[in-house]
Amino acid sequence: MQTIKKIVIAIDGFSSCGKSTLAKELAKELNYIFIDSGAMYRGVTLFALQRNLITKNKIDRQTIIKSLEQVELSFLLNQETKSPELHLNGVNIAKEIRSPRVASYVSQVATIREVREKMVADQRKMGQNGGIVMDGRDISSVVFPNAELKLFITAEIDERVQRRYNELIENGISTTKKEVKTNLVERDQMDSSREESPLIQVADAIVIDNTNLSKSEQSALVLSLVKQKIEVESK
Ligand code: C5P
Repeated sequence: MQTIKKIVIAIDGFSSCGKSTLAKELAKELNYIFIDSGAMYRGVTLFALQRNLITKNKIDRQTIIKSLEQVELSFLLNQETKSPELHLNGVNIAKEIRSPRVASYVSQVATIREVREKMVADQRKMGQNGGIVMDGRDISSVVFPNAELKLFITAEIDERVQRRYNELIENGISTTKKEVKTNLVERDQMDSSREESPLIQVADAIVIDNTNLSKSEQSALVLSLVKQKIEVESK
């Protein structure tokens, strides 16, 4: 009897390219686990904000590092929406991590090596049995360099701004397009130029520019790539 292999799908790309939406959709179709790794960096940032370890001019990196053992992040399934939601020490923080305040500091927190080491160790544990779709910045390059399928998602900046703006407004978060654009451009720059695990397009990644693709067109395209990979891997 042929066993169908459960593969690892790594999705990387700039901010607001629809990576998480795609990852969630794939996980649903394939009955895989979905992990939004960006949510985890946002979770650590929220923790640091709650402890006043981030003030306007300073990020207290040393205390954040020392407090990391008090940060327990877990994804629990929302039974109504069937979406995994991030919890910090048992408290649901799914909504709070989307705030502009968290967004404005997360890329600086994500440059801290010890934070990354903890996140990567947790992420690898989640993916050890395969059957996972994870999106982020370093998934193909660092977290799962042996992932069977690696995707690099891009889209034009104005399209990305519009999408993130709509998402925030839909969730009742007040912002402007200018504010969203400034944050996206800043984060992209910081994420691609940092020393620790910068965002890169690995050589074996398949690039998808989804500027002019609908969500369903993109899902159909990626699902066909996944099916090809699963067939090859299951032989
Ligand atoms: O994916 P999202 O935009 O929510 O990620 C928030 C931030 O977390 C990114 O801008 C980046 O600084 C950081 N991040 C990271 N590595 C990942 C995922 C996210 O450094 N794998």
